[in-house]
Amino acid sequence: MNNAIPSGGTIGDKRILVTGGAGFLGSHLCERLLNEGNEVICMDNYFTGSKRNIQHLMGNPSFELLRHDVTFPIYLEIDEIYNLACPASPVHYQHDPVQTTKTSVHGAINMLGLAKRTNAKIFQASTSEVYGDPKVHPQHESYWGHVNPIGFRSCYDEGKRCAETLFFDYRRQHNLRIKVGRIFNTYGPRMHPNDGRVVSNFIVQALTGQSITIYGKGDQTRSFCYCLDLIEAFVRIMGTDDSFTGPVNIGNPHEFTILQLAEKVIELTNSSSKLVFKDLPSDDPTQRRPDITYAREALGWEPKINLEEGLGKTIKYFEQTLSEGNYKAG
Ligand code: NAD
Ligand code: UDP
Ligand code: UDP
Repeated sequence: MNNAIPSGGTIGDKRILVTGGAGFLGSHLCERLLNEGNEVICMDNYFTGSKRNIQHLMGNPSFELLRHDVTFPIYLEIDEIYNLACPASPVHYQHDPVQTTKTSVHGAINMLGLAKRTNAKIFQASTSEVYGDPKVHPQHESYWGHVNPIGFRSCYDEGKRCAETLFFDYRRQHNLRIKVGRIFNTYGPRMHPNDGRVVSNFIVQALTGQSITIYGKGDQTRSFCYCLDLIEAFVRIMGTDDSFTGPVNIGNPHEFTILQLAEKVIELTNSSSKLVFKDLPSDDPTQRRPDITYAREALGWEPKINLEEGLGKTIKYFEQTLSEGNYKAG
C-alpha cells in the first residue's frame, strides 16, 4: 500500500481496481492479480461483461465486485488502476456510440482523478484502433494513425485517442504515473458467444453448423493474440518504473487474412460449415500487425501461444459454453 493510504482492511499485497473487470480480458486480469496475492476491486456496469466470467472468484475474500458505471465519479482507496471499461466489439461499441465515447473520455477523466487523489499508478487499455485504417505497416508506436473522425468506428477510435491525450496531459500537468498499452486483436475463453468479433463468430458458427460470415473478400488482415499472453504484458507494463509511460504496442505479430482464419477454424473444429461473403463494414481496416520491438526491449515480453494452440483452447471453451445451453443462435 502507498503511504497516503491507511492499510486497514487490506488483506493483499496491493489494492487494485480493475474497471471492466467482468469482461473478457478484465476477468482474466482479476484472476491473475488475485493469484499474485493482491486485493482486487472489480468494477463493471455489465454492459458487455457478465458475472459468469468472475463467478469463480466470488468466494475469494480478496475479491470485491462493484456495479458501477465508470462515467460517474467513484471514491476508493487504491494503489493501482487498470482501466479496461469500454465495449470492444464493433457491434457493441456502435450500439450506443455516444455512451462509448463517454465511457472512454469521462471514464478516463474519473480514473485519472482517482489516480491523482490516491497517487495510484494507472494503466490504460488503449487499442490498435488509434492507428485507424493504417497507411504504415506494420504499425509502430511512432505512427500517428489514419482515423476517420466522423465515421461509425470513430466513437471507439477517437474516444480511445482522447483517453490517451488525457493520460499524457495528467502526466505532464500532475505528474501521474501512467502506463498506456495499445492492444491488438486478442481472443480466448470468456469472449461472449454473441460478441460479434471475428474469432468468436467463426468458432460459434463452425460449432453450430452455421455458415461462416466473411465480411468483404476476406483478404483484410489481423494479428491475433491469445488472452493470457496479453495479461502477462499488462502486468509487466504495470511493473515498469515510473519513467515508463508507453504507449507500447501489445499483440501478436503473426498476421493472417480473415479467410485464412476461417479455414483454420474449420480445420480445427472439423466443421462442414460453408463460407458466405457479406458486405465489408465501412472504415474496416484493411491490414493490421503490431511492431512489438518496443515491448520486446522494454518489457522482455513477446507472445508465446501461437494461433493454432490458442484457437484450440478457445474452441474447447465454446464447446463447453454451447453445451450448457446458455446461448441462442442469431
Ligand atoms: P469486453 O467487452 O469483454 O469488456 C469490457 C468490459 O467493460 C465489460 O465487462 C463491460 O461490461 C465493461 N464496461 C463497458 N462500459 C462500461 C462502463 N461505462 N462502466 C463500467 N464498465 C463498463 O471487452 P474486452 O475485449 O475484454 O476489452 C477490454 C478492454 O481492452 C477495452 O477497453 C477494450 O477497448 C480494450 N481492447 C481490447 C481488445 C481485444 O481485442 N480484446 C483490443 C484492443 C483494446
Ligand atoms: N474523481 C473520482 N474519484 C476521485 C477523484 C476524482 O471519481 O477520487 C473524478 C471526479 O469526477 C473529478 C474527476 O475525477 O471531476 C477529475 O478529477 P480532477 O482532480 O483531475 O479534477 P476536478 O474536476 O476534481 O478538478
Ligand atoms: N469479420 C468477418 N466476419 C465476422 C466478424 C468480423 O469477416 O463475422 C471481419 C471484420 O470485418 C474485420 C475482422 O474480421 O475485418 C476483425 O473484426 P473484429 O470485429 O474481430 O475486430 P476489429 O479488428 O475489426 O475491431
